[in-house]
Amino acid sequence: MAKLDKDEFNEMIFSRINSLISEYELIKENELIAVALSGGKDSVLTLHALKRYQEFLDYDLVAISVDEGIKGYRSHGIDAAVNNARDLGIELVQKSFLEDEGFALDDIYSEFKSACIPCGVFRRNILNKTAYELGADKIATGHNLDDEIQSFLMSFARGDTIKFSKFGPELDVIHPKLVPRIKPLWNTPEKDVGLWAVLNEIDIHLEECPYSHLSLRAKIKQFLNNNEDEYPGLKNNIMESFQKILTFENDISTNLNECKLCGEPTSSSICKACEIKQLVSQDCKSHIYDE
Ligand code: SF4
Ligand code: ZN
Repeated sequence: MAKLDKDEFNEMIFSRINSLISEYELIKENELIAVALSGGKDSVLTLHALKRYQEFLDYDLVAISVDEGIKGYRSHGIDAAVNNARDLGIELVQKSFLEDEGFALDDIYSEFKSACIPCGVFRRNILNKTAYELGADKIATGHNLDDEIQSFLMSFARGDTIKFSKFGPELDVIHPKLVPRIKPLWNTPEKDVGLWAVLNEIDIHLEECPYSHLSLRAKIKQFLNNNEDEYPGLKNNIMESFQKILTFENDISTNLNECKLCGEPTSSSICKACEIKQLVSQDCKSHIYDE
């Protein structure tokens, strides 16, 4: 790897992404793809990769950033999102928890076992609403191979097998108001994403979120990275087991309703975002979820 030059590396990483897009038909002609752009390395690579893929297919791109309201952290990410979108000539729609929900993550996180719980719920909610309003056919997220393995183990550890249906490079339409998601970096290891950003001197947001160390995901990530050195191939083995399970489980379908309070798609009668808003307004301590 040390001798690999930049052009060869770029060829390798973009060919793998292109093959995934074409193999799974993640994008179809004339679609509008909304890239969830945090400014971190994964979302920035997704934006660059989808811009390049326009060479092969005619479709449109827009980017959406969501400012969760994490003081001293998120604004740097937004700067990187703005710069990359501008350099690539892609429109960036900027959203925030404060404007959409009336509070910043910093204001409410202490009500939860982990800040990632409300963060994930409201970010997904705002992304979906925005992409839907823009008329996007799909949302492209920067989930890489390591993220996918972590998510798989998190669901496994919780016995939450319904979530297995959310794995794979694309999520089907299960409700007309839920914009389908694609993951162009689904089989790209995190270390390759980092190397791409460094080799190409890409403007990305490198800081760690101040809340991330509290999450189950961070602990699983640390476990995997520590043990991958000692047991090389560990991550691949988990991914392979997971793909075998997926072939058995991919007929899981979730029936979605519309939230009684806000109308967004949900598997219950009230969506997670509204449920959390009620908890926050009641000033309840919730320890039932963990991201
Ligand atoms: Fe949000 Fe958690 Fe990610 Fe921080 S680490 S941005 S709190 S999901
Ligand atoms: Zn709702």
